[in-house]
Formats: sequence, structure tokens, C-alpha cells
Amino acid sequence: MRIKDLTLPLKGQCHCGSVIFEIYTNILDLRRCNCSICRRKSFVMGTASEKDLVITSGKEFLNVYKWNTNIAEHYFCKVCGINTHHKRRTPLNQFGYNIGCIEGFEMKWIENIPFIDNTSMTIVNINRKNAGIEIK
Ligand SMILES: [Zn+2]
Repeated sequence: MRIKDLTLPLKGQCHCGSVIFEIYTNILDLRRCNCSICRRKSFVMGTASEKDLVITSGKEFLNVYKWNTNIAEHYFCKVCGINTHHKRRTPLNQFGYNIGCIEGFEMKWIENIPFIDNTSMTIVNINRKNAGIEIK
């Protein structure tokens, strides 16, 4: 089995299964990123438009983390803590999702994933005031 053998919609879930989502586009634009939050999460992200990422179950288990400009929205399961997806700061209306959450996907399929240099998105002053967690 290979990436091209996965059929749409791709099925994804967090570790505990509280949050389940579907992706209605082929796996494309896989990337890693070195902004201040992605380098800590260290996952490989797929890309989907807003309409192609659907939370099918467990919206109530999602928390969103925002900071600094409060534009990007980083979603994670409040039960198991896994980051499932995020709404990007740029371009707006584009989502990244955690490729490791996709059912049937094998991490061994991917090597040399392009690295997006987003160090310019690194926050300048991190403190508890601008690091907010909202409960959805
Ligand atoms: Zn979970």
C-alpha cells in the first residue's frame, strides 16, 4: 500500500478517538514548519481547504490554542492532547492537518518532507498574557 492507494475521504482521528475528521482532497503539499509552535509539535502536515476538512464527530472535544496575532487556530483534543489540525495564518481559509492522524497512513512512506521556513512567525515575547487557550 502507498499514499496513492488511500481513498477519499481520508479518515482521521486523534489518539483517543474523541475527535474524528475527514479530508476530501488528496494528500498534497506535505510540509514541516519551524515556526515557534510547529517546531514544538514536530509533526508533518497535509494541506486542505476549509471545505475539504470536516470534523465528523467530537467537535465538543476540541480546544483551540491561539496566541500573538490570534489569527492561526491550533486545534487539539482536550482528552488526549493530540493536535489534529490548524487553521493557518496565511493563506487564510487553509488548514493543515496532522498526517499522523490519518487512518492507514504509514510514516515510513515519507522522507525528506519540505521544510517551510517560518521563523518570521516566531513570537517575540512569549508570556502568559498572550498565550491564551479558548474552550470551544
Ligand atoms: Zn483525543
